[in-house]
Amino acid sequence: MGVDDKFQEFVAFVKLQYPNKDFIGLHEPVFIGNERKYVMDAIDSTFVSSVGAYVNRFEEMMAQITGAKYAIAIVNGTNALHMALLLNHVTIGDEVLSQALTFIATANAISYIGARPVFIDVDKDTLGMSPISLKDFLTEYGERRDNGFTYNKLTGKKIAACVPMHTFGLPCRIDEIALICEEWGIPLIEDAAESLGSYYKDKHTGVFGKVGVFSFNGNKTVTCGGGGALITDDETIAKRAKHLTTQAKVPHKWEFVHDEIGYNYRMPNLNAALACAQLEQLGLFVKNKRVLAGKYNELSGKLGISFSKETLYSKSNYWLNSLILDNFDERNYFLEFTNSRGVMTRPVWELMNRLPMFGTCQTDNLENSIWLADRVVNVPSGFRT
Ligand SMILES: *Cc1c(COP(=O)(O)O)cnc(C)c1O
Repeated sequence: MGVDDKFQEFVAFVKLQYPNKDFIGLHEPVFIGNERKYVMDAIDSTFVSSVGAYVNRFEEMMAQITGAKYAIAIVNGTNALHMALLLNHVTIGDEVLSQALTFIATANAISYIGARPVFIDVDKDTLGMSPISLKDFLTEYGERRDNGFTYNKLTGKKIAACVPMHTFGLPCRIDEIALICEEWGIPLIEDAAESLGSYYKDKHTGVFGKVGVFSFNGNKTVTCGGGGALITDDETIAKRAKHLTTQAKVPHKWEFVHDEIGYNYRMPNLNAALACAQLEQLGLFVKNKRVLAGKYNELSGKLGISFSKETLYSKSNYWLNSLILDNFDERNYFLEFTNSRGVMTRPVWELMNRLPMFGTCQTDNLENSIWLADRVVNVPSGFRT
């Protein structure tokens, strides 16, 4: 089968999944539950801002869904990451281990602190941080000092946190990563922005380290326009998260006293109302997406294209389905072929170390990241009615 025939069959398949559409997007939100009802209710209550019943309910739902003891509502995922780093005492001049293959928000949040990311390679199958690469990097550059912290032998900087990411909802080998971080005394923060509804060894992603972070942006599995959440089992961290995200105001009947520099990072009740209605449908959304992923898997097998599947012990939400094409030229031809026929497809993000802001950051050899960056594309993955 020639490349044109393969890609034509692919386009026809996608159009069959999303009938009666001129243009098929990558991931469009659907509001088919209690969204209108809850948003109207929030408006009628006049509690539209960051105090309100839906914010509390959202936090309860997130704790229940993930199995974490505490969940804190945040304005968006990027700020939730920023907060997670602050809560783990990452500070100016520190280094944070992360991935080159990730969305910009991960590296940006590290930069807000005045810390620098160090980019570790990913695994080819999970597209997330490779525990082997992490271990190799720490064996070569890590130095555990008497104060319990690990420093980078090359730069002399403290390695203050590790932030792996569950790419497109596919869980990375997070239990192995957690063990390595524990061995080196490095706090683990999971960027689970894309993996709400994804599990590893029967535990929800985001619960393996100190703090897990989620996003509810418009393109995510569950959206509330803009929103984020932070989960943790640590009561001290949870209390401090609530305090820091609400301008570090000391509770009092009327006095305005703040005991440190705080942030206006709490999710508004209006967004939380939308989030609650969407979270009620998480099971439905994930089920729908997993059926589609199964179909993509079958089709790509038939067409001889590689499809990124969940690995052993993991259950993916298949937020965005991804294909791995044979080479860079074929990837570009695929993007041209599909986008010009009304089917939106996108390449994976440019590697972080190739962006001007992060060009001088330390990396390992990034062998798999570089290989994947030339080949991975996302294909339409939204809810099918
Ligand atoms: C979406 C996303 C975020 C956070 O995004 P917000 O738009 O700020 O909610 C963070 N990390 C990753 C990997 C993401 O995909």
